[in-house]
Amino acid sequence: MSLTDNIIKLKQRIEIACKKAGRSPHEITLVAVTKTVGIDEIQRAIDSGIQHIGENRVQEAEQKFEQIGKQATWHLIGHLQTNKVKKAIPIFDFIHSVDSLHLAEAISKHAIQMQQEIPCLVEVKTSAEATKFGVTPEGTLEFVRQIARLPGIAVQGLMTIGAFLPDPEQVRPYFRMLRKLRDEVEQAGIDRVAMHYLSMGMTNDFEVAIEEGANMIRVGRAIFGERN
Ligand SMILES: *Cc1c(COP(=O)(O)O)cnc(C)c1O
Repeated sequence: MSLTDNIIKLKQRIEIACKKAGRSPHEITLVAVTKTVGIDEIQRAIDSGIQHIGENRVQEAEQKFEQIGKQATWHLIGHLQTNKVKKAIPIFDFIHSVDSLHLAEAISKHAIQMQQEIPCLVEVKTSAEATKFGVTPEGTLEFVRQIARLPGIAVQGLMTIGAFLPDPEQVRPYFRMLRKLRDEVEQAGIDRVAMHYLSMGMTNDFEVAIEEGANMIRVGRAIFGERN
């Protein structure tokens, strides 16, 4: 199947999942995950209507950004090391992986220097198997309170990587957990915090994520095929 066909098919799947959940597909931001994907293919995806791209490494994104530039909105979805923050800020419109005070302080410092405010999502480790990164579910509210005070950071939501389980139904409890945390943070009414985004769901499990309230899904393989 061609890239365009993959995108059409994916959008149909998103529509079906939304219908099942009584939601509108317009609520869902599709972030096409372009890690390991070459420039030409990324450009073709953009020409086929992709507006958001997700990368998990700053260095890889830097090279691509030189060519692609602001034709798309850039999302950093992978772990960010403090020493890469300065390079990340000019590229990325969203950082989905804020998971330590140390990192948040570095983002704040550089954002102020560059006179920017960076939309940030807090990465939550809803399952131990999926990733070693992310704040604990129990610590999420307190963590949001801490980083909300930092200038240059705009806390706009939560992100998680679902557990890697063969049946997407098995991932549902983790997505539900993230949604509950989002509601808790929202209800806490923290100054400068607006819980706009729930970033969850990938190729294997985005339909379940949409049913559980995701409004940003991060999809790579369903668009670009298997990675090497
Ligand atoms: C690679 C990656 C994705 C996309 O995964 P697919 O299975 O290719 O859809 C989503 N989120 C994160 C954080 C990733 O690293």
